[in-house]
Amino acid sequence: MRIAVLLKEVPDTFGERALNLTTGLVERAASDPVLDEICERAVELALTLAADHPASEVHAFAMAPENATATIRKALAMGADAAFHVTDPALLGADLTLTAEALAAALRHAGEPYDLIVAGNASTDGIGGLVPAMIAAWLDMPHLSELTALTLDGTTLTGACEDADVRAELPAVVSLTEAFPDGRFPNFKGIMAAKKKPLTTLSLAELGLDAEDFSVARTIMTAVAQRPPKEAGQKLTDDGSAGQAIAEYLFAHKLAAQPS
Ligand SMILES: Cc1cc2nc3c(=O)[nH]c(=O)nc-3n(C[C@H](O)[C@H](O)[C@H](O)COP(=O)(O)OP(=O)(O)OC[C@H]3O[C@@H](n4cnc5c(N)ncnc54)[C@H](O)[C@@H]3O)c2cc1C
Repeated sequence: MRIAVLLKEVPDTFGERALNLTTGLVERAASDPVLDEICERAVELALTLAADHPASEVHAFAMAPENATATIRKALAMGADAAFHVTDPALLGADLTLTAEALAAALRHAGEPYDLIVAGNASTDGIGGLVPAMIAAWLDMPHLSELTALTLDGTTLTGACEDADVRAELPAVVSLTEAFPDGRFPNFKGIMAAKKKPLTTLSLAELGLDAEDFSVARTIMTAVAQRPPKEAGQKLTDDGSAGQAIAEYLFAHKLAAQPS
């Protein structure tokens, strides 16, 4: 079975996270870049499924700045067999649609079609939550999303999400939530082995894509602003009128509808 897993490099959630107010992009120098934790869980799921299905291969795919190699190698150190790094200066500031298009093209470019594509449900920085669904649309595959559990029996995937059981036949895209186990910690042997595993870099030209092709829908940034500082809250002492005051606050800020 050929399994692809989608890796996003993000600013460390434990560090300072800031927007560059000129470009509107994440200030990458403000914190350490890391493999998104939800993607570590995706790698873990891919490796677990591969272990249960002999002769499986796990390939990692990331679209990320040129210097993201260490982040991608982490997936190789965890146990993935090969990695593909889509990188190109023209991808700076790529929106969801361009990201999905580029990753779908890379997935197609990498030889035999994949049976299963594993992703996180949403990244911890962009939180778009749409890349896996868009890739499924590009590749014409079903997408099981927001999964809290998943099993594979033959070619049938059976999963659970918050309020439903879901099912699909391979090939398919799955995106998982934090209900899945943490990613394994790479050991020394894995880290050494990762240095020799293939990591292929792909440019937009190699994928036959043009970031300036606006015949496909693209999101553009029209303005960037700093989040306003948090204002001090209003303290209420309950002398019997606090409930009324809270209700008035909610109505005034359109956070609750006035009873008719
Ligand atoms: C040069 C360069 C600069 C970039 N700068 C930024 C930046 O400043 N800020 C930013 O947020 N993004 C940046 N990216 C990445 C890209 O723009 C985002 O990944 C994209 O917009 C996805 O948005 P999201 O995180 O909301 O996706 P979501 O839909 O929330 O992601 C869900 C899942 O899809 C998969 N996925 C998402 N993005 C990627 C990816 N890039 N590669 C592989 N798998 C992925 C992961 O499994 C993830 O868990 C950059 C990329 C490049 C090449």
